[in-house]
Amino acid sequence: QGKQKGGNEPKRFSPAISRDSEDLIKLQSDLFRALERDEFSVVYQPKVSLVDGSILGAEALLRWKHEQLGFVSPAQFIPMAEVSGLIEPIGEWVLSTASSQSRFWALEGLPPFSVAINLSGRQLMEDCLPHKVAQIISHNELDPSQIELEVTETFLMQDIEHSIEMLNEIRELGVKISIDDFGTGYSSLNYLTKLPVDTLKIDRSFIKELSIREEVFRLVKNMVGMAHDLGLTVVAEGVETKCQLDILKEIDCDEVQGFYYSPPVSADKFRNLLLKQPLIGCRYSAMEAG
Ligand code: C2E
Ligand code: MG
Ligand code: MG
Ligand code: MG
Repeated sequence: QGKQKGGNEPKRFSPAISRDSEDLIKLQSDLFRALERDEFSVVYQPKVSLVDGSILGAEALLRWKHEQLGFVSPAQFIPMAEVSGLIEPIGEWVLSTASSQSRFWALEGLPPFSVAINLSGRQLMEDCLPHKVAQIISHNELDPSQIELEVTETFLMQDIEHSIEMLNEIRELGVKISIDDFGTGYSSLNYLTKLPVDTLKIDRSFIKELSIREEVFRLVKNMVGMAHDLGLTVVAEGVETKCQLDILKEIDCDEVQGFYYSPPVSADKFRNLLLKQPLIGCRYSAMEAG
């Protein structure tokens, strides 16, 4: 097993660098103990209004610091957690951690804002999910409309009928639903009219090319228009430049999220950003805030 090898020497790997197979096996087996070893944390990335530059909410993003390998990217360990069935307890931990943080901020007297939490498709398959969400909300005495759940388009399409049922139950609680990474799946636009959702998050891959390719510009412009026709709020993900921001404003996108304003930060840093808003005209580079 990977456990016996390697020793305690810390390896300095950037999460972006690919790992060798020995590391992957180690990660997979250590993921089982990560929760009890308290190796997870949650960071928060602001969602900023394009109307007035205020922070409307935060997306909660999971972080895992492995004792020897350092920070591991969620893109790497979330799929592992999905395969091994660990995503349910881990996902529940994120839900309750972000919710109690939200309660803490409310008690501190911060202005209300929403906290968005990512759901894995497997969590959405659990029939008890709406009940768990309701319990966590009442335990933390939260206003349900301040909780938002993000589900990717690909997951929603896997079992569309069941997804609709679950989303309806969750929405009846007053919780908001977003479609994450919109545009990367292969869903028929027809489904968009049937899905009980509130927000559409345009995937980063489109925003990246927004100012470079005329076709992408037109596509994004149409996505925004279509979403608005359906009564949905539109968030652009991965906004990194002023130029992208200006285009998104021009085409009436509602909210932005991205390194241009702030990378995901600790709860404390997020609180400081909130107290300094509005952020428009006040740029944070990834270096400063990270
Ligand atoms: P996502 O939900 O689409 O989250 C957005 C990702 O984009 C985050 O990566 C965020 O750090 C990154 N990002 C934000 N702004 C920018 C930008 O301007 N430029 C670039 N290049 N990247 C930006 P992160 O935190 O590494 O998470 C990756 C994915 O892992 C998430 O994508 C989500 O699908 C998944 N994930 C993260 N936390 C959780 C969780 O608690 N539960 C579940 N099921 N999935 C999670
Ligand atoms: Mg997300
Ligand atoms: Mg996304
Ligand atoms: Mg993503």
